[in-house]
Amino acid sequence: LTRSEVAELIKGMTGKILITTHKNPDGDAIGSSLGWYHFLKKLGKEVKIFYRDRIPYFFDFLPGVNEVESGPEIKGEFDWVIITDVSDPKRTGFENIPAKKSLVIDHHITAEPFTDYYIVEPDISSTCELSYGIMKIAEPELIDTPIATSLYTGIVTDTGSFNYSNTSPRTLKIASELLERGVEPYRVYSSLFERNRINKFKLLELVLKTLDFALNGKVAHITLYRKFLEETGAYPEESEGFISYPRSINGVEVAVFFKEVEGKGKWKVSLRSKGKVNVAKIAKKLGGGGHRMAAGYETEGDLKEIKSKLFKEIELALEESYYKSIL
Ligand code: 5GP
Ligand code: MN
Ligand code: MN
Repeated sequence: LTRSEVAELIKGMTGKILITTHKNPDGDAIGSSLGWYHFLKKLGKEVKIFYRDRIPYFFDFLPGVNEVESGPEIKGEFDWVIITDVSDPKRTGFENIPAKKSLVIDHHITAEPFTDYYIVEPDISSTCELSYGIMKIAEPELIDTPIATSLYTGIVTDTGSFNYSNTSPRTLKIASELLERGVEPYRVYSSLFERNRINKFKLLELVLKTLDFALNGKVAHITLYRKFLEETGAYPEESEGFISYPRSINGVEVAVFFKEVEGKGKWKVSLRSKGKVNVAKIAKKLGGGGHRMAAGYETEGDLKEIKSKLFKEIELALEESYYKSIL
């Protein structure tokens, strides 16, 4: 659908509406779903917001976080479900979503439509940026400070504080409009990034010791073993951002973070590119998805084999980009 069609669809929704997002929710997932939650309530609708996983503590400043419920199963029956920042049904973390009709609002390049209605704009920085555009068409005067703060938070986290290549002139214009609607940037920044627990640094210490390289230094990778969490008392979500260390190394083209978070032998793999390699393509091939510069997938098995399979794919992608550059 187009943005105007989504705006009309949402304004016309009747009955019980459920809002959800992806498992292990990040700032964009939480910001966009909460933004829509507040917006729909202001439109006078009956809304419930439910996630598979709980919200990391550093998002506790967002208005409405206490109204979010979470768990492995959604109870009740709904007329609509709105799913934000999700490109593939596995990512919701639910086996079944009890809703008659469904709408996805997303920005992943690897998205494959799985709902009755969807809008996917892969060129947009974040689901929050896209959501702001749709809300502005639907009912701009409803975008108050709580909604603006939710959306701003998702834009900040998905753009690496307006630094990644998904930051466009329009992204910054929207950020400016959100400030005009009452967002306090330092409050958001300090809430997100200046409340670290010492456990996080203990975890970082262990993870950085695993730093290793492949493909002549073009790949840098770090690993979080499950036992590190027990040893440090850190939460899995406190490893958010660690991947920027291997990525920051001179000469590295692809950074990889292997996380054994959900259970022994189950790995979450995060990929970051510096531009030459489209990591979304690699992640998709290996069962996940994402964006050109940031992507991920989940897998199981022996870490050595997981690594060699992945590094082969990166090697092929690097060769391809090399041939493209000399042609
Ligand atoms: P992160 O590495 O921060 O978890 O995720 C980076 C990007 O890759 C995000 O845009 C996220 O949506 C996507 N991504 C990460 N893991 C998966 C996955 O298992 N499946 C899919 N489809 N996308 C993923
Ligand atoms: Mn996300
Ligand atoms: Mn996103």
